Amino acid sequence: MAEKNRRLPPGLEEEIRFLSEIGADFIFAPQTRREAPPVRREETAAPVPELKSPAEPARKPDPDKTRRLRALEQQVLSCALCPLSQTRTRAVPGEGDYTTLLMFVGEGPGADEDLQGKPFVGRAGQLLTRIISAMSFKREEVYITNVVKCRPPQNRTPFREEVEKCRPYLLTQIDCIAPRVIVTLGKTATDFFLPSTTPMSALRGNFIEYGKILVMPTFHPSYLIRNEGDKERKRLVWQDMQKVMDVLGRK
Ligand code: URA
Repeated sequence: MAEKNRRLPPGLEEEIRFLSEIGADFIFAPQTRREAPPVRREETAAPVPELKSPAEPARKPDPDKTRRLRALEQQVLSCALCPLSQTRTRAVPGEGDYTTLLMFVGEGPGADEDLQGKPFVGRAGQLLTRIISAMSFKREEVYITNVVKCRPPQNRTPFREEVEKCRPYLLTQIDCIAPRVIVTLGKTATDFFLPSTTPMSALRGNFIEYGKILVMPTFHPSYLIRNEGDKERKRLVWQDMQKVMDVLGRK
């Protein structure tokens, strides 16, 4: 009976476990806040750039940019510029707040996204949504999209020509939204901004300056799911997101 009374609702219990795994359990339990894991030497190599700012006031929607983004989304939905259009169910332009300071870019839609026409709605998407809320954002307050807007068959990595055909869509989205920070999820998204043969384990956690925008490479949520037992990788992602929160004045 006493045990029954102590049990938390199933969803909440799971949420606390997740936040605890990434080292963010202070969100639910301030009195049990953990010390941040020690920052490794190489993580101090690239300090958070000068753009660190207090929380910025909400931006006003720009009617011209809103029009351009809506037109782009329509164009993506009927795009036939590359062979991925022949195998997709639905194209996935992206979704979220056009006035946001924070954008997430993944690789390309998976099976669930292809069916629903929305980015990051499958298992990886659920994990991404939890990371976003641990950062004290609502999912709808950020903008989420991918390098390629159509699902590559069997979720293979998109080919270079497919990325090139799709490139103007993401560039226009970035130009219109003008976020302060872009989080790149995995190597394909990171390579879009800074092509290299450097592995994600070395790239993650270090801001890349892309014009006025700071790009934060981090591990893809699917990679975290594939390595579910490895809590260290989740903690590293959380460290990366804390740097992003710091720049956005969310800490
Ligand atoms: N993986 C991605 O890179 N993007 C999605 O939208 C879903 C899974």
